[in-house]
Amino acid sequence: MARTSKLSENFFIMKRFRPVLWVMAALVAVLLVVPAQPAKAAPIAPGISITITPTNLLPGQAGYVFVTGGHPLNVSVTLDGQPMDVFWTGEGYLALYAFHHDAQSGEYELAVDATDPRTGQRLIQYATIVVQSYSYLNEELYLDSRLSERLYDPVLNAQETARLQDIYAARTQINPWGWPFVNPAPGAPITSQYGANRSYNGGLLESYHSGTDFRRYNGEEILATAAGRVVSAEFFEIRGNVVIIDHGYGIYSLYAHLSEMYVEKGDIVSGGQLIAGAGGTGRAMGPHLHFEIIVNGCPIDAMKWLELMPGYVEPLDLTDVSDDSEKSG
Ligand SMILES: [Zn+2]
Repeated sequence: MARTSKLSENFFIMKRFRPVLWVMAALVAVLLVVPAQPAKAAPIAPGISITITPTNLLPGQAGYVFVTGGHPLNVSVTLDGQPMDVFWTGEGYLALYAFHHDAQSGEYELAVDATDPRTGQRLIQYATIVVQSYSYLNEELYLDSRLSERLYDPVLNAQETARLQDIYAARTQINPWGWPFVNPAPGAPITSQYGANRSYNGGLLESYHSGTDFRRYNGEEILATAAGRVVSAEFFEIRGNVVIIDHGYGIYSLYAHLSEMYVEKGDIVSGGQLIAGAGGTGRAMGPHLHFEIIVNGCPIDAMKWLELMPGYVEPLDLTDVSDDSEKSG
C-alpha cells in the first residue's frame, strides 16, 4: 500500500510541477538572451494545476481530469455542456469521462473551471476530446454443445447485463485513492483483446468482447487491480464465478470464470491482493481470466486504462496466435 500511494504521489507531483519547470526554463532562456537584465525571483507557488488525459481516444476508452493545488477548491467540469461528477480523492479533484464501445466518433468539448476560494485564484482550461472513428475486429466463435443453449439466450444475457448495471450505478468514495491500477494476472499473456465484435455459433448471439482475456490455468492467482471494496462475489450463469470490486468514483473491475473466490461481498482489498483462482466456469471453453474495467457504467478497454498509470508494464500479446478456446467469454 505504501509503495502504491508513493508512486501515485510522485506521478501527480511530477505533473503539478511540470509548469514550474517550463517557467524556469523560460527564465534561463531570458537570462541568456538579455544578460544585462537583473534576475527576478521566479514565481514558484505551484497554484492550481489541471491534468486532462487522454484527449485522443477510441470508442470503448476512458480518461480523467485531475485538479490539484489546494483544498478546498471549487471545481466544475463539463463535457459538451453536461456537468460531470467531480470527487475529492484526498489528493486532488477527479472527474472521469468514458465512451461506450458504440460511442459516436467526433469531437467533445471539455471545460474545467477551478477556483481557490481563499486566494481567489481561478484557472479555466478547455480541451477537445477526440473520439476517433474505429471498427473493432469481427470474431466468429463456436462454443461446445456441452454448454447449454440457454447461454445464448438473449433474455438471459440482458438480465445479466442489467444486474451488472445495477451494481455499477453506485458512485462511492473510497479513500485512500487506489491508483495506480495494476495487472491482475502479471506474467500472463493476453489471448483476446477488448472490443472484438463477436458472433457465437453462426449468429445465435451477437455481442462484443467487453473485457481482456489472459491465459491463466485452473487455480492460478488473480490479483485485485487496485484498492477497493468487493461488491459481488457470486455465480453468474454466463460469466461464471465473478468478483466485482468498487474502486470508488464510478470505477469498477470485474474478474470472470473463476474457479475459486477468496473474498466475500463487503471485503476491503488492497491493490495487488490475491482475490481468486482462475478457472473456466460459466460460458468458457477453457480456463482463462476475463478482466474488465468499468467507468461510469461503460466497460472500457481495461489495458488502455492501465496504460494511463505510472510504471505500467505491457503484458505479452498473443492475440494473433491463440486458439478460440481461450477467448470464449
Ligand atoms: Zn473475455
